[in-house]
Amino acid sequence: MNLIYVAVGSNRRPDAAGAADPLSAALTAIIHESIRPRIVSPWYRSPAWPAGIGPDFVNGAFLAETQLGPEETLAALQRVENALGRVRETRWGPRVIDLDLLAWNDIVTPDRAEVERLMALGLEAGNLPAPEHLVLPHPRMHERGFVLAPLLHVAPDWVHPLTGLSVREMHARLPEAALEGVIELQG
Ligand code: ADP
Ligand code: MG
Repeated sequence: MNLIYVAVGSNRRPDAAGAADPLSAALTAIIHESIRPRIVSPWYRSPAWPAGIGPDFVNGAFLAETQLGPEETLAALQRVENALGRVRETRWGPRVIDLDLLAWNDIVTPDRAEVERLMALGLEAGNLPAPEHLVLPHPRMHERGFVLAPLLHVAPDWVHPLTGLSVREMHARLPEAALEGVIELQG
């Protein structure tokens, strides 16, 4: 059984009236993709980035078990995004649902050099097209407050295979700005 870590976000209500909250809908839908959620974070509210680009996000993270391989897992997450009405318009534009595979066990893919290169891009990454191939661990996870705040509830002791830092340590090292406006939602 493989352990996967997933970040989930939404900053647009589904078009259908009365449609379920997209994060909860995603958790239900992935069960039909043979991905079994084990620990689910509280939901957080966070500002869209870059500032002003769109409505606030609701973000969360979960730990799940699956027998799917890494590529199959990403394909399953993308089927769920499509089923929930994700339309790929502009990159980082408002989306009903975004499911990012943060980690699949401790694998590093395509290879250490490529993941380290992408991790080092920092803010420049926003100007580049999204990678075509699967990249794991997700090369932006260590700098995103809206990912690490919920992930801290789910897997504080998971250790990044390249940096050796735990989620707890990555969270503690975030610059204050990365956690600005990242607020746990009650209930
Ligand atoms: P972002 O999540 O960075 O805002 P998108 O979700 O629109 O961007 O697209 C991300 C693209 O990156 C997808 O087409 C997917 O194939 C690719 N990708 C590579 N690695 C991953 C990963 N670990 N998790 C999610 N998508 C990934
Ligand atoms: Mg994504």
